[in-house]
Amino acid sequence: MTSQAARVLVLNSGSSSVKYQLLDMRDGTRLAAGLVERVGESASRLTHTPADGGERSRTGRIADHDAALRAVAEELARDGVGLDSPALAAIGHRVVHGGPVFTAPTVIDDDVLAEIERLVPLAPLHNPANITGIRTARALRPDLPQVAVFDTAFHTTMPEHAARYAIDVATADAHRIRRYGFHGTSHAYVSRRAAELLGRAPEDVNLIVLHLGNGASASAVAGGRCVDTSMGLTPLEGLVMGTRSGDVDPAVVFHLERVAGMGTDEIDHLLNKKSGLTGLCGDNDMREIRRRVDAGDPSAELAFGIYVHRLKKYIGAYYAVLGRVDAVVFTAGVGENAAPVREAAVAGLDALGLVVDPELNAVRSREPRLVSPAHARVAVAVVPTDEEMEIARQTFALVDA
Ligand code: ADP
Repeated sequence: MTSQAARVLVLNSGSSSVKYQLLDMRDGTRLAAGLVERVGESASRLTHTPADGGERSRTGRIADHDAALRAVAEELARDGVGLDSPALAAIGHRVVHGGPVFTAPTVIDDDVLAEIERLVPLAPLHNPANITGIRTARALRPDLPQVAVFDTAFHTTMPEHAARYAIDVATADAHRIRRYGFHGTSHAYVSRRAAELLGRAPEDVNLIVLHLGNGASASAVAGGRCVDTSMGLTPLEGLVMGTRSGDVDPAVVFHLERVAGMGTDEIDHLLNKKSGLTGLCGDNDMREIRRRVDAGDPSAELAFGIYVHRLKKYIGAYYAVLGRVDAVVFTAGVGENAAPVREAAVAGLDALGLVVDPELNAVRSREPRLVSPAHARVAVAVVPTDEEMEIARQTFALVDA
């Protein structure tokens, strides 16, 4: 590999969308970013932001992922950073489910692609779209290394007692039922940046990382390795999310089947799309919920209360799992921006060494920062996540070796 080839194109292919970023790994600059939405529909839209800003967009039918990637390639070429450039070192693909197989980023060949396909039953909504993106990118640049970076990989260090459900072992093994966890790329990035913020080596710190976006997950990270996480077989388990319930008694499902006469798909839809903050109060955006709380709206207050109560339970649980905690770290849309969530999640936990400084907590910034007072026994931090940068970093580390 020539030393000039230091650009990585990161692709996140969803069922009807493609998100992308082109990053220069020599200095971490973002050369372009964008999104193709409503792929396959008549009103598809491509929004492209070059390095110097000046967003461009175009609408009109983009028939499939192949057409989407070709449109992206045209936009990049207009900026002089096209896919045929010798400066492009690799394409890094976000892949949601790596199952028990993929514990690290992996250069994609036919065998790897076949293995990702075998994992489709574990992630029927996500892996097929990721695979389409990989196939399309390989067809466009067959000579270029393509790397899969898995959402589950960071969590494969979980010990068996954290990864296993207490169900019949033979049944669990036959159907690959265990806790995989997701958002791993974000938890990995944020853990590393949090250690930097504390001025310590990742191996020396124990962290509770709270990724609170539309989806939300907590993880317990001991010396840079994940030892527990709140999402499980699927991203449904754990914290209250925008539209997902998080933890419920599994018997709720049987009850809905037997008593409410609901079918499996209907219950799946209820728990994944019509629950969480949306189910509780009709809104999934924390900004709107806070506006309603401030206006005295009781259903928004209850939704906020349930959201924060669940967070607090996971902080307590992971504190016990880790034994010693150096920092609780908030990230993603809600974690980075919603000061009231951070304040309420650690309220009353002074005995555990957890305190938030109201002034520091009110600061708005894109930089990693502490929101706990200087004397606090356990730091409370905000570390903005950057999953694309982490995918590019892991991809480049593999191909530049
Ligand atoms: P995704 O999981 O889709 O990547 P993000 O991490 O971007 O989500 O988080 C999106 C969520 O972040 C929004 O739904 C909203 O609840 C929350 N959010 C974004 N900005 C703010 C803000 N200024 N204050 C409170 N919440 C915010």
